[in-house]
Amino acid sequence: MPVYRDVGVVVRTHKLGESDRIVTIITQDSGKVRAVAKGVRKTGSRFGSRLEPMSHVQVQLYRGRELDIVNQVELVEVSNNVRSSLECTTDGLAMCEVVDQLSHDRVPNKHLYRMLVGALRQLEKQYAPLVLPALQLRLLEVEGVGPLVDSCVVCGTATGLCAFDIAAGGVQCAAHKRGLTLSPAALDILRAVLNGRVAEVLNRQDVPELVVREVVTIARSAMEHHLERRIRATSLFEAPQAG
Ligand SMILES: [Zn+2]
Repeated sequence: MPVYRDVGVVVRTHKLGESDRIVTIITQDSGKVRAVAKGVRKTGSRFGSRLEPMSHVQVQLYRGRELDIVNQVELVEVSNNVRSSLECTTDGLAMCEVVDQLSHDRVPNKHLYRMLVGALRQLEKQYAPLVLPALQLRLLEVEGVGPLVDSCVVCGTATGLCAFDIAAGGVQCAAHKRGLTLSPAALDILRAVLNGRVAEVLNRQDVPELVVREVVTIARSAMEHHLERRIRATSLFEAPQAG
């Protein structure tokens, strides 16, 4: 079997047989890769605990038809802080999950890989509740469905914007308000993130809890909506399963 090397982030693992595990890795050059890590659940495994979700690793893999086989693993960076608090772990795993859902098997996407590494690195440095929604919003943009935040999606006015409609994919004025309530402060954060000022947003110390929650809800709901629609669109062209 041909051997190749890559760097990537482990986004998911599941058990296989008595002592093996299948790991899903978002790699830099090979896209989403699923590989068998043999003996990884035995004590004294040569891979140790390096193949856990959120681990940034350098791997050497044997190329298989569907599943590759992990031959070597080295940690690229240590992520102790991300694992040390519940809120970091929860958000970090959510980031892994969404990038997993957006990635395709063996379709290289450097951009997704870099965004995931950047967001996890940010969490490792310091927990901020806006890292996850910032990633989700940027990912939606990359997918070509970035939220419209400049003017009302119904009438186009740029003043008095006070709601966000997930289905319409953007903000609304008072006259056309249908979606979630949107405060001016939350709108400001959405705009900053979507205009590429993520670092500036994450450095803001004084964002009220309520505003953070608005942004978190909007980003999560918008991403869920996008993923559901994508699944529906895909299943439309799939042949029905026999039986
Ligand atoms: Zn309007």
